[in-house]
Amino acid sequence: MKFTLPPLPYSPDALEPVISKETIHFHYGKHEKGYIDNLNSLIEGTQYEEMPIEEIIVNSEGKLFNNASQTWNHIFYFYQFSPEGNKEPKGELKFKIEEQFGSIEEFKKKFEEAGTTLFGSGWVWLAADENNTLFIIQGKDADNPLTKGLRPILVFDVWEHAYYLDYQNQRGDYLKKLWDIIDWEIIERRFLGS
Ligand code: MN
Repeated sequence: MKFTLPPLPYSPDALEPVISKETIHFHYGKHEKGYIDNLNSLIEGTQYEEMPIEEIIVNSEGKLFNNASQTWNHIFYFYQFSPEGNKEPKGELKFKIEEQFGSIEEFKKKFEEAGTTLFGSGWVWLAADENNTLFIIQGKDADNPLTKGLRPILVFDVWEHAYYLDYQNQRGDYLKKLWDIIDWEIIERRFLGS
């Protein structure tokens, strides 16, 4: 299976000023495109060629894992945003977050903290197990909760390439601003598995 870069469901400047058109151009158009091109050349003529990407992620390591997981992670990241999405969680997910973390604000604080304290490159995930228990996970490099049997729900990219053009070295400012463009309807659908 040849993987391709899917078009984003919003225009390149739609997330400004949180994520600039330039960052979309480099982060999605160049970095993500690079991971996809690497993935395609690594699987060509191998047992992985016909596998869905999620299967490649849980059945590979090294270079192949890194490129498959980075491919998947970036699509998951960019597809959770919208300029006019729901700004706060509702329903069952809201209930679950409040039950486990005390309040939405406390949860956001913990999630941002996980991002600012992650040393080097990686991802901060909200993931759920089969009982819908939520976990905040610091993932190094190309890490993905699928490899731990968990269901990814929300992710912040904390590689420098995600924020350097817009925030320089201020990772904390970038993480705080990301909440403004999170579409909680999308996050809720992921939580409910629908
Ligand atoms: Mn990235």
